[in-house]
Amino acid sequence: MSAITLEEITKRYPDGTLAVDSLSLDLSDGEFMILVGPSGCGKSTALRMVAGLEEISDGELRIGGERVNELPPKGRDIAMVFQNYALYPHMSVARNMGFALKMAKLSKAEIDRRVREAAEILDLSEHLERRPGQLSGGQRQRVAMGRAIVREPQAFLMDEPLSNLDAKLRVQTRAEIARIQKRLGTTTLYVTHDQTEAMTLGDRVAIMKSGVLQQVGSPRDLYDTPVNVFVAGFIGSPP
Ligand code: ADP
Ligand code: MG
Repeated sequence: MSAITLEEITKRYPDGTLAVDSLSLDLSDGEFMILVGPSGCGKSTALRMVAGLEEISDGELRIGGERVNELPPKGRDIAMVFQNYALYPHMSVARNMGFALKMAKLSKAEIDRRVREAAEILDLSEHLERRPGQLSGGQRQRVAMGRAIVREPQAFLMDEPLSNLDAKLRVQTRAEIARIQKRLGTTTLYVTHDQTEAMTLGDRVAIMKSGVLQQVGSPRDLYDTPVNVFVAGFIGSPP
């Protein structure tokens, strides 16, 4: 079954900007889909519509087969990992990860269980009592992911989660994200402007230009049979 379906989703901002033009995408259960394209092509807007943070101008969005266009973010069983994650500096790693669950009134035992499980997956078990200031950039990024994981959502949405890391950490953390996604098997829509990230991370890649979807396929498909010059140039296929 399809986990997330975007059917001709369009976003027109109040100032008239057509940021996303009739975007159709179908993520199957457990799939890791990358949405890639140059800066300003509408990736974040598309992701924010799926998250419920931006109103959909036109088209239909379904999660688990159900139309969710009008549902507020809290009503959608998805967790977003932001580009500029902010951890609470005065709280331990464990409390940072469990905070949203506490607000949702889960029992302490259940919060503990989920935080421990996420920490184990993220290799943070040794650091649960530390403050964010005592962690490396990569560890802080994993705590940010932990906050999404403990919610045990139906899907993850990630908007350039590696953009704050230096080049070396980015490569390491990229591999970590792929490993974690496979281990959890959670449907993921991941936005990046980085073609290397796109081509190494996802099961399928959707490539956008100026709000318009150009091609969706496996990294191999896009590389071997780009549908146009833009895709070939962006992916770096041989001419
Ligand atoms: P990307 O994430 O691919 O860089 P965005 O989704 O942020 O692209 O932006 C897509 C287009 O929509 C850009 O032209 C951007 O300037 C415009 N845009 C983004 N947010 C707004 C807004 N709140 N109001 C008007 N235009 C916006
Ligand atoms: Mg963006």
